[in-house]
Amino acid sequence: MNSPSFWLDSLGPIEKRPPLAGDLEADVAIAGGGYTGLWTAYYLAKADPSRRIVVLDAEYCGFGASGRNGGWASGLFPVSEARLARRFGPDAAAAMHRALGGAVDEVGRVTAAEGIDCDYAKGGTISLVRSPIQLRRAKGDPGFVDAGTARAMCHATGVLGGIYSEHCAALHPAKLVRGLASVVEGLGVTIHEGTRVEQIKTERSPRRGNGGQAGQDGQTGQIKISGGGTVHARTIVRALEGYTAGLAGHRRDIAPVYSLMIVTEPLPEEFWQRVGLARRETFTDERRLVIYGQRTADDRLAFGGRGAPYHFGSRIRPEYDLVPEVFEALRATITELFGIDPPIAHRWGGPLGIPRDWMPSVGLRDAVAWAGGYVGDGVAAANLAGRTLSDLILGIDSDLTRLPWVGHRSRRWEPEPARWLGINAGLRATALLDALDRRRAA
Ligand SMILES: Cc1cc2nc3c(=O)[nH]c(=O)nc-3n(C[C@H](O)[C@H](O)[C@H](O)COP(=O)(O)OP(=O)(O)OC[C@H]3O[C@@H](n4cnc5c(N)ncnc54)[C@H](O)[C@@H]3O)c2cc1C
Repeated sequence: MNSPSFWLDSLGPIEKRPPLAGDLEADVAIAGGGYTGLWTAYYLAKADPSRRIVVLDAEYCGFGASGRNGGWASGLFPVSEARLARRFGPDAAAAMHRALGGAVDEVGRVTAAEGIDCDYAKGGTISLVRSPIQLRRAKGDPGFVDAGTARAMCHATGVLGGIYSEHCAALHPAKLVRGLASVVEGLGVTIHEGTRVEQIKTERSPRRGNGGQAGQDGQTGQIKISGGGTVHARTIVRALEGYTAGLAGHRRDIAPVYSLMIVTEPLPEEFWQRVGLARRETFTDERRLVIYGQRTADDRLAFGGRGAPYHFGSRIRPEYDLVPEVFEALRATITELFGIDPPIAHRWGGPLGIPRDWMPSVGLRDAVAWAGGYVGDGVAAANLAGRTLSDLILGIDSDLTRLPWVGHRSRRWEPEPARWLGINAGLRATALLDALDRRRAA
C-alpha cells in the first residue's frame, strides 16, 4: 500500500487509538484530527479543562493534508490583502494579515512550550523571480529584493530578483500533527481514531441546552458514526477540509484538489554550500501553477506542486495521490532550478480544500462550528482558526472573533459536470499561461 507521506513514514508505524464503540455525550465533539481539529481542542482544553472534548478521525490524526503537506507554516492567505480590503475595509484586511503572521510565531511558541519537536525554523520565504515578465510583475511588491539578495538566500538558476517575507517557518508536518495529538490527549481530550463521521445534525433540545453560550440556545449537535454510534454534544466542530464533501449534505461546500510532493535523499554539503537556504527559508518561484519547496532538517529537498487533476464528484481515493506525470514534472523542476538530478526517496500527494470563492472561513451557527477552505495555506491558518473557534465556542468576543473570515460563507460549487469542467479547465489554463510566459521569455 502507498503510505500517505514521507513525513508520516519517517515517524515509524502508527498505532491507531481505539475507535468509538457505542454512543457518547460530550461538550464539544470535533470531526477531523488534522491541525484544525487539534488546535481547536488544544485551545479549548487550555481555556476550560473541565470541558469534555472528543476528537473523531476516520483514519488517524494526521492522515489528511496535515500529515502530508509542504511544511510551510506561512502567513499566506489565498485572498490578497487588496481584495479583502475592497470587501471588508482596509482595517479588517490588515488585521487579518497581521493575525496570520502572528499564527506563524504562535505555532513556534506553542510547539516549544509543549515540547513538540517539529523541526520548526523561521527563516521566512523567498519567491524567486526568474524571467523578465515575472520581474515586471514583481517589482511593485513591497517584499521585492534584488537578484543578489535573492540568490544569497536561494541560489537557483536564472534568478533576477525575489519577493521575500519573514512570515514563514519550515517544519516537519507530521511531527507537528502527531505531537499535537499527544499534547491534547495529555490535556484530557479524548481521541477516537478509525471513527468515521457520516452525518452532522442539529436538534432543538432544552435538556442539553447550551447554558446561554454564544447564541446557540437550545440547539445541540448530533453526530452519526459509521457503524451505528451517535455522539451528542453542545457543539460540533466540522474540521474535515478536503474531505468535507464526503459528509452528508456537504458535497458542494469544498472541492478537494490534489497537491503532490516528492522528497530527495539527503543532499551533500557541497550542494547546500552552493544553493544556500541556510536559515531553511522556504522557496517557490513566480510561475502561476503553485510550486513549493523546503530544505528539511536532515538536508533533503521536499518539493511539491499542484497540477494533478480534480476528480469528478469530489471523489478522494488513495490512487489519486500518485500521478506519475506530476512527479516527473516536479523532478524536472528541481533539475531546472538547481541543475541536479537528485535521488528521489518518496512520492505522495493528498487533497487540500478549495471553497468556491477561495476565501477560508471560520464560524459557529446553531451548535455547529467549522473552519477551513484554506486552499493550500492551512498550516499556520489552522492555528489561527483553532484559537478563533475556541473563543467562539466559549462565547468570548475578541479581536480574533472579529476578523473578516469569521462567519464568512462561500457560495457552493456548481453541480457536476460543471464543477469538474470548471476546475480542470482552470488548472489547465494556469499551466498554459506559464508555458506562454516561458515561450515569451525564451
Ligand atoms: C500535498 C500538500 C501540500 C501542502 N502544503 C502546504 C504548505 O506547505 N503550507 C500550508 O500552509 N498548507 C499546505 N497544504 C494545506 C494544508 O496541509 C491544509 O490546509 C491543512 O493541513 C488542513 O488541515 P485540516 O485539519 O483542516 O484538514 P486535514 O489535515 O485534511 O484533516 C482532516 C482529517 O479529517 C479526517 N476525516 C476525513 N473524513 C472524515 C470523516 N468523515 N469523519 C471523521 N474524520 C474524517 C481525515 O482522516 C483527516 O485526518 C498542503 C496540502 C497538501 C495536500
